[in-house]
Amino acid sequence: MFESLSSRLGKVFEKLTGRGALSEADVTEALREVRVALLEADVALSVVKEFIGRVKARAVGQEVIKSVTPGQMVVKIVHDELIATLGTKGTELNLSAVPPVVILMVGLQGSGKTTTSAKIALKLKKEKKKVLLASLDVYRPAAQQQLQILAGQAEVGSLPIVMGEMPVAISRRAVDVGRKEGYDVVILDTAGRLHIDQELMAEVAAVRDATQPTETLLVTDAMTGQDAVTLAREFNEKVGVTGIVLTRIDGDARGGAALSMRAITGRPIKFLGAGEKLDALEVFHPDRIAGRILGMGDVVGLVEKAMETLDQEEAERLAKRMEKGKFDLDDMRKQFAQVRKMGDLKGILGMLPGIGKMAGALKDANIDNKMVARQEAIITSMTKAERRNPDLIKASRKKRIAAGAGVEVQDVNKLLKQYQQMADMMKKVGKLGQKGLMRHGIG
Ligand code: GDP
Repeated sequence: MFESLSSRLGKVFEKLTGRGALSEADVTEALREVRVALLEADVALSVVKEFIGRVKARAVGQEVIKSVTPGQMVVKIVHDELIATLGTKGTELNLSAVPPVVILMVGLQGSGKTTTSAKIALKLKKEKKKVLLASLDVYRPAAQQQLQILAGQAEVGSLPIVMGEMPVAISRRAVDVGRKEGYDVVILDTAGRLHIDQELMAEVAAVRDATQPTETLLVTDAMTGQDAVTLAREFNEKVGVTGIVLTRIDGDARGGAALSMRAITGRPIKFLGAGEKLDALEVFHPDRIAGRILGMGDVVGLVEKAMETLDQEEAERLAKRMEKGKFDLDDMRKQFAQVRKMGDLKGILGMLPGIGKMAGALKDANIDNKMVARQEAIITSMTKAERRNPDLIKASRKKRIAAGAGVEVQDVNKLLKQYQQMADMMKKVGKLGQKGLMRHGIG
């Protein structure tokens, strides 16, 4: 899937990224080509229009960061907007309901619904869930037997077949057995239909009402193209869909369905079917798919790294102040904020000059993230003058600050001591010169 879209976009961006400066006309022309490529990949027109609109709006307002070209910036924007179109939220199955959690599988005949039911059962079994499969397809000959065979292959439970039983009754029995026999998940495979058929749709709605599924997954063939949109919309309106599974991505589908369905229904794509075997099921990751479509991982990575160096510039500004002996508590607070942002200490250590000595000093000071947040709170409850000139902070002020931050006076003392240590260290480091690691960011 996505091969031809990917190679078309590749050509557009090759032209764009190879150039130093871009005029608005260049961007417009490139986006025109992106638009055509998306339409040819069968992405719905409304989705393409909105997508291009968003990219354009961001591209126009975007300041180009030092050290990347405008073209690279455009690629990054397209990449981000692709992810936004494909969905940024988590796509894991929701299994939080009281067991047995019911998963209702819906879709057209031949879309891969039965196979996908067994694939999901196998995946959940590997996650130590006890799964029961039940087929509600009483119309297609041997459909129920087919699911039973697949359940055997996946080594999960399957509901005994009772000839002549109707779908809603089967679904009730499945949930009942699920409850009595301690199943975690019951997967209901509904009857397929050749096209959207109101009678069958009503039947699925009745099953839904009888079983209260936590997940209703619409299974669609990735090759469906433009029809996928009508299909998804219809199913979503009539039975309510919580997620989408795209099958046959191992074929030469153009991929438009993937991009359209999420945007049109607002429902996430949860899985991709990538083959006939039961283990050919992939969890859907919007970022990876966007990467696959664009094939521009390097450029995106480069821009992301350059964005990080914005933080590095802030660190550099701080270092300059330190060098002049101007490191005050406000600077310290900014640094804490950065440390927290990075999630751990290693990141900031790598950005500071004189890393060896610093690492020791900070380790002695025993900084961890929770502490960092508390220390920020202490600094926040100081007055501006106190932050500029910590010498002002005597006993009564310490009491006030401690109360304001909800800590003890000794915590304030500790922070001030740590500040003093850092300030001393900064001065020394500053004298070592500014050839530190931070100068070696992207440039
Ligand atoms: P249903 O009518 O929707 O239940 O469809 P089935 O599950 O019976 O699948 C129809 C055919 O498609 C079967 O031959 C499956 O092996 C095949 N199939 C299902 N999913 C995939 C997939 O992701 N990739 C490929 N290549 N074939 C698939």
